[in-house]
This record gives sequence, C-alpha cells and structure tokens, in this order.
Amino acid sequence: MPPAAVLFDLDDTLADRAAALRRYARFFAEDFGAQLLPSLTETLHSTLIRVDDFGSLAQAEALCAALPWRAPVEPQVLFDHWAGRFGEAAVAFEDVEPVLRELQRRHIRMGLVTNGGAAMQRAKIAALGLERYMSTIVISAEVDWRKPDTAIFRRALADLGCVASESWFVGDHPDLDVRGAHAAGLVAFWVRTGVFEAPDDLPGRRLDRLSDLLRHLDG
Ligand SMILES: [Mg+2]
Repeated sequence: MPPAAVLFDLDDTLADRAAALRRYARFFAEDFGAQLLPSLTETLHSTLIRVDDFGSLAQAEALCAALPWRAPVEPQVLFDHWAGRFGEAAVAFEDVEPVLRELQRRHIRMGLVTNGGAAMQRAKIAALGLERYMSTIVISAEVDWRKPDTAIFRRALADLGCVASESWFVGDHPDLDVRGAHAAGLVAFWVRTGVFEAPDDLPGRRLDRLSDLLRHLDG
C-alpha cells in the first residue's frame, strides 16, 4: 500500500551536510580571504570539517585558533557569519529532486519535520527549493517540541490531515528520527545518508539511499 503521506527529516536526509560545508568554505574564503594569510580552499574545508560543531560559539573559537589570520578575529564575527550564510550553502543529495517529484506525481502528501533554529532551517529549505513540495514544514524552534517527541510528528500529520499508520517517515538519525517516528505510529525508514549507523534492534525499514524509497511504494 502506498502511503498517504511521507514526512522527511532535513539534515543529512535531504540536505547533504558534507557538500554544504564545501560550499560554505567557498563563501568563507570570499568573505574572509583578505584577512587570512594565503591558505588553500582545501585546507579551509578540512578545517571547517574538523571544527564542525553545528555553528556553536566553540566552533567559532576553534576557527579563530586554527586558521592563519593576519590579525586576530573575534569569534562572534565567525559565529554570526555561520548563522547568516551556512543556510544558503545548503545542497540537496542528487536523488532528492526525482524522489520528491515522483511522490508528487502520485499525489502523496509530503512534509518536513526538523530539529533546529527557525532562521537557519528556513534558509536551508529556501536554498533547496523544498517549499514547493512540502504541504507542511515543522521546525522544532517554531513549535513546542523536538524530535523524538511524538507530539512533533503528530503535529505534522495533523497539518496534512493524515493518520500515522498510513504515513511514512524518513530520516538518518536512529533515535531522533526512526525511534521517534515509530513511537508516533508511523512507518519509519532509516536512510544511510548521514554519519549514523543503525543498531540491529532499530525498528522500521532501511534504505541505502533516498531513491530506494521508491521501490517500497508498490510492494
Ligand atoms: Mg538528520
């Protein structure tokens, strides 16, 4: 039975964080290149990966310490730069567009359920052009719950007018996404697109890539 609705996680399910870090490294080089001693873009990228801490002040402090600055830079400047520009650096995995288009063609309703800050997640969603596919977008900072709280999944289902047992959820995080959605009564899919491994006792189904979801629609 095809589902009435498919809900998705955003980061490392639809949005490729590693690719976004590469793109953000280019923005960073453009905006701070004059303040840095000559350093290769690759060095910048590898430093960004090494100190990646989801845009925290600790990350900004680590970047201040790790890069060859001509003059000292305030961590707050780098913190604000990340907050202002990492969202627009978002890159979708290459099979996102065909998968969403196929679900849309089959009149399956879609939604996003993501933990994170409102401005950052909205900027990523805009950069990826996801609004045209999603009938609801639930961001933890805009509601009273975070995944794995079952209330956040129920909120998205209520927006869509769909029941949990006829709905699917796809995400890369075993606990926040898969166990959370399963506990809310959805059919949960874990997708191997992020940095997490699936433990043996994880409920639900497994996908090696997002496009494998399509194979489950008819069978
Ligand atoms: Mg994720």
